[in-house]
Amino acid sequence: MRQKKITTVVSVYNEELSLKHFYEVTVQVLENLEWDYEMVFVNDGSSDRSIDILRSFANINSKVKVVNFSRNFGHEAAMIAGIDYATGDGIVCMDADLQHPPQCIPDIIKKFEEGYEVVAMVRTQNTDAGLIKRITSGAFYKVLNLMSPIKFENNSSDFFAMTQNVAEVLRRDYREKVRYLRGYVQSVGFKKTTLEFKAAKREAGESKYNIRKLLKFSINTLCSFSDLPLKLGVYSGCVVALCGFILMIYTIIEKLVHNAPAGYSTIIVALCFMFAVTLIVIGIIGEYIAILFAEVKNRPIYIVREVLNDNSKENDCK
Ligand code: UDP
Ligand code: MG
Repeated sequence: MRQKKITTVVSVYNEELSLKHFYEVTVQVLENLEWDYEMVFVNDGSSDRSIDILRSFANINSKVKVVNFSRNFGHEAAMIAGIDYATGDGIVCMDADLQHPPQCIPDIIKKFEEGYEVVAMVRTQNTDAGLIKRITSGAFYKVLNLMSPIKFENNSSDFFAMTQNVAEVLRRDYREKVRYLRGYVQSVGFKKTTLEFKAAKREAGESKYNIRKLLKFSINTLCSFSDLPLKLGVYSGCVVALCGFILMIYTIIEKLVHNAPAGYSTIIVALCFMFAVTLIVIGIIGEYIAILFAEVKNRPIYIVREVLNDNSKENDCK
C-alpha cells in the first residue's frame, strides 16, 4: 500500500529568530511519524533573513518546499498559497512561531485515520494574549455567531488541518479576494472534528497583528460572512422614521395646546441623530462595496517569485 503523506503549511513573515528552532522541533516530530512528510514554507515578503534560512532548509532537505512571494500579501494569502502547493494526503496549517505545537501532529493524523476530513484546533489557553485581546476576541466570536448563519468555534485559530479533497475544494471554489480561511474551514462541511491545544508563548520576535490589522480583519470577516449589517440599515431607518413620527405628533400637540414656539433643541437633536444613522449606514455599504471592488478588480491573491524544491509545476499567479 502507498505510504500516506502529511504536509505542514507554514506562513513566514520576518521570523528569522524562530525559524531554526521551529524547523528542528517540527522535523523531529515529522520524522517519527508513520506517514511520509512534506513541509511547505511560504515566505510572505519578509524583509529580514527568513528567506536565506528557508533556502538553507531546502538545500539540506528535499522534503522542504519554499514558496517565495514577490512581496508581502498577508497571512491569509500565504496560507492559501501553501495549501495550493501542498501535495500531502493531509495538510496542517500552522504558524512559524511555535505557538501551534507540532507535537499535536500525531493526534491530527489519528483523526484522519479515523476518517475525519477537517480537524479544527481550538485554543484552551493563550499565554501570549493580553486581557484586552482575549476579551475582544471573545466578543468578536459572539457577534460573528450572532450575525452569521455559519457557527464559528470560540477560540478557533489558524491552526487547522484538512484532507487533500477538502483542500481541493478550497483551491477550486474559495478564491475570494477578501478571505477568512478559518471561516471556510468551518463552512465547507465534510466530516469535522476538533482537538484542543494550549497556545504557547511566541518563540521569538513579535506578533505581526496590530490593533489596526485586527480591526480591519474583523470588519472584513463580519461583512464576508453576514449580510445582516446591510439589513440593519433598513431596520435602523424604520426606527428613526418612527422616532421622527412621534416627534412630529409631539410638536404638533405642543403647538396646538401650549402654542409653544417650534423647539430649536428638538430640531438639533433630531438632525444629529438622523445624520449619525445615515452616516453609519453609508459606512456599512462602503465596506461591502470595498469587498465587491476587490472582487471586480480580480487581482491575484498572491504572486510567486520562485518555488524551491517544487516537484509539481504550478501556475505562478493565483
Ligand atoms: N504572517 C504572515 N504574513 C503577515 C503576518 C504574519 O505570513 O503579513 C505569519 C507569521 O510569520 C506567523 C503567522 O503568520 O507565522 C501568524 O502571525 P503572528 O504570530 O504574528 O500572529 P499572532 O499569533 O500574534 O496572532
Ligand atoms: Mg503567533
